[in-house]
Amino acid sequence: MTINSLIDRRSKLLGPKTPIFYDDPLHIVRGEGTWLFDSDGKRYLDCYNNVPSVGHCHPAVVEALCDQARTLNVHTRYLHENILDYAEQLLSKFDSSLSRAMFVCTGSEANDQALRIARMHTGSRGIICSNATYHGNTEAVIKLSTIFGSADDQSDDIRMVNWPDSYRTIDGLHGSELYDAYASQVKEAIASLQDAGVGVAGMIVCPIFANEGLPVDPHLYLQKVMPLVRDAGGLYIADEVQAGFGRTGKWWGHTDSGLTPDIVTIGKPMGAGHPLAGLIARSDLIDEFQEKCGYFNTFGGNPVSCAVGLAVLGVLEKESLIENSAEVGAYVLEHFLELKKQYDFIGDVRGSGLFFGMDLVSDRSKKTPDAALAKRLVNEMRNSGVLMGNIGEHGNILKLRPPLCFSKANADLLLETLNGVFAAV
Ligand code: PMP
Repeated sequence: MTINSLIDRRSKLLGPKTPIFYDDPLHIVRGEGTWLFDSDGKRYLDCYNNVPSVGHCHPAVVEALCDQARTLNVHTRYLHENILDYAEQLLSKFDSSLSRAMFVCTGSEANDQALRIARMHTGSRGIICSNATYHGNTEAVIKLSTIFGSADDQSDDIRMVNWPDSYRTIDGLHGSELYDAYASQVKEAIASLQDAGVGVAGMIVCPIFANEGLPVDPHLYLQKVMPLVRDAGGLYIADEVQAGFGRTGKWWGHTDSGLTPDIVTIGKPMGAGHPLAGLIARSDLIDEFQEKCGYFNTFGGNPVSCAVGLAVLGVLEKESLIENSAEVGAYVLEHFLELKKQYDFIGDVRGSGLFFGMDLVSDRSKKTPDAALAKRLVNEMRNSGVLMGNIGEHGNILKLRPPLCFSKANADLLLETLNGVFAAV
């Protein structure tokens, strides 16, 4: 089967606009650890995929999945230990005030449920979110998401505020003054929702603003704005779908702020590729929601999903992957900062654990975003055997978030390849 015939079939069967990576799309047939292999047997260092965060096709995860699939898979209306063992272990990773777990199948669904819970609990409808984000694809959460151009900022009950960009800042401000300026936008959003008569149900953010572009000090921002939201009666919803499970070198992206969210949504790496997602919240919120609205999910929390979830937690701990994320992440970041000294087109470098953003510019003094260069470099790197992507409000940020088993040797190969490709452009 040639690449072109696959592209053709895909277009006919799934639609011509189905997103696909790279000018020269990849036909990946196998994965192992940090490596992906194409149909010609060529291997690629995966610096992009955060879902298989314990490594592609981890044997412990595959074994747990197969064992349970061979034994039983039903929904959660029967008693089963897996969901309890998993909920217990998962909850132990959070502040003790977050003591209930609810399982779903996707991050979108988790965020959708979070909005329902916040709106039911507060009796208000207003939601505040950032102006360059993605929280999923359901009817409710797509309205919060700008990256597919579908945001509904005209909606009565949604207010978008600037994400706390630490590079292209408001009026060149920095530090506390900058975060005061961002916080004043949240104050305005609160006032506007109150004036519209819908009140404030909550503010939902990825605590590291991963889709927006990974700013440097998101915790300083959260410390300023979340008390405002709570004073207005709203809840703090932390979308940890990207930031969670050790990506930042800590269990959760919200940890650094010292603030405990009211609801945390999780997904992506939770099931290492198996569709497992969820919501962790205060017991009063979940209990009230179940009382008033009821809740059941056909697939969420089934014995196979929970076996997979348990295996993922086991691997994260057994292989010290969160520590690895912090250690190798710091190593890569240090070298990225060196690259920045060498190449003028790197305007800014940001990183948190094994999550990096490299902000590319055509003019450093003006910080002019260079999305075309980002796209070109992503393609050149793919041709050189290293996979990454680009993100951000302007699409000009190189985005790297490899599996958490990324080693120093992997990092050296990444750095060597980047250097070669950068020098050539
Ligand atoms: N929240 C964030 C922060 C995300 O990045 C995404 C997906 N990219 C989602 C939610 C939606 O998750 P899913 O695709 O599993 O529905």
